[in-house]
Amino acid sequence: MSGVPKLLQPVGDELAIVWEDGKESYLKLTDVRRLCPCAGCAGERDLLGRVAKLPTAPLTERSFTVAALTPIGGYAVQIYWADGHSDGLYPYKKLREWSEHPPVLPALTVAPSLPVR
Ligand SMILES: [Zn+2]
Repeated sequence: MSGVPKLLQPVGDELAIVWEDGKESYLKLTDVRRLCPCAGCAGERDLLGRVAKLPTAPLTERSFTVAALTPIGGYAVQIYWADGHSDGLYPYKKLREWSEHPPVLPALTVAPSLPVR
């Protein structure tokens, strides 16, 4: 089993996934964005395990809108968010894990959408 989903696409405010074994998952896009695994969002660990977090721009409604999806090498998907963020590669294994054991995230605060420059 390769673990590559048969279907993966945003539907409304969720990411719909149909897995190879036929199981369907719906992940909230707000959660998926906040779980972005890139160094800027998740922080990069140094050799001592300390997490260096870069300052991140406040999240807006556009931060939770998917502009495009690109499968990467049969093991992950790169998500391009509408606010221009696209550094995160989401391994299918992680997405499956999140759908089976939803991560607990702190309450969400969304900054009001800024006018598009
Ligand atoms: Zn990120």
